[in-house]
Amino acid sequence: MLHNTMDSTSRHNFSMQKKYIKNMTIADAKAHFAAIGEKSYRAEQLFNWLYEINVDSFDAMTNFSKTLRSRLDDEFALSALSLEERAISNDGTEKYLFRTHDGHFIESVLIRRDGSDDGRLTICISSQVGCAMGCRFCATARIGFKRNLETAEILDQICQVRRTSGVKNDNIVFMGMGEPFLNYDNVMRAAEIMNYSFGFHISVRRITISTCGLLEGIERYIDEKRPFNLAISLNDTIPERRARLMPVEKRNPIEDIAKLLAHTFPSSRNRVTLEYVMRADNIAKEDAIRLKKLFRHGKIKINLIKLNPGVPGFEPPTDKAIEDFRKNLEIMNVPITLRKSFGEDIDAACGQLSGRRYDSHVHISQEQLPMHSDK
Ligand code: SF4
Repeated sequence: MLHNTMDSTSRHNFSMQKKYIKNMTIADAKAHFAAIGEKSYRAEQLFNWLYEINVDSFDAMTNFSKTLRSRLDDEFALSALSLEERAISNDGTEKYLFRTHDGHFIESVLIRRDGSDDGRLTICISSQVGCAMGCRFCATARIGFKRNLETAEILDQICQVRRTSGVKNDNIVFMGMGEPFLNYDNVMRAAEIMNYSFGFHISVRRITISTCGLLEGIERYIDEKRPFNLAISLNDTIPERRARLMPVEKRNPIEDIAKLLAHTFPSSRNRVTLEYVMRADNIAKEDAIRLKKLFRHGKIKINLIKLNPGVPGFEPPTDKAIEDFRKNLEIMNVPITLRKSFGEDIDAACGQLSGRRYDSHVHISQEQLPMHSDK
């Protein structure tokens, strides 16, 4: 089901001159209020309005004086994105298409694990417009890289999905468009703001940064003792075969990532998640053995997801093969989760996000295959 959500007024309701208020950390906001002679507690009130109450205008901030509201409105833009379209899947998954101030399109997905608002609610967000990583199975890769998203554009996806759907999610995954570690600073600032107690107040253990496996980014993340969950898209155990699917493997061998995780670990108390999309040709007993050998010293868990049917060039595995693979992996003695894919009928499943407005002028030459198992 598709909903056109944008009218011509809101379509042009961006101000290129104004800064996005959602780019500010709490320290930035305190400094700003101090500079204009306001008390520092105004910063916490502001974050409460922006994220907890999630208002869409400065005028709604009723414990601010009219003068202050109008001053903020003159200087800052409150929304960083404009909602273009909302699609609702049969399983309750919702996909949102947003337009940026400079005419790009990005997508976010609301996932209802139980198909209702009672179970875990996850918002899958984008970190870049397009992506440079070129994974063969990914719709975003077809767009190529356009630009990094600002912190405000990352956070506004959550604000707008919450406001439109009326739900409050308790889980965030950076598994939409883009490679988060190639927009490191903006992604980390956004993740910190998500965790503020006077904002969304989402636990660091419920915020997951997912990378296709950039060694430098993983090392920096560990060195900086970032507290969020880390997920790595593995998808294969043979380097040559993985490199054909994921060019990142050539300069960032999965063997080096395994070595890194064997002697150091992110500060999150959660294990590092290895995402593994199962095809007919990557779940033999030998794959399980290679996986165990590679990560035998790492503190990991494994998310398995069955490849969606109908992807040209790839065969989904049989249920029997999946069960055998899961049993073979049990020798690793690590948590293993078998996840289903959500929102396939609206192209919201893993690897299917493409900012559909690009499709008309993108040369589609590569096959699509869903990727991230947590979506
Ligand atoms: S799967 Fe992720 S890293 Fe790979 S091209 Fe797509 S968005 Fe980029």
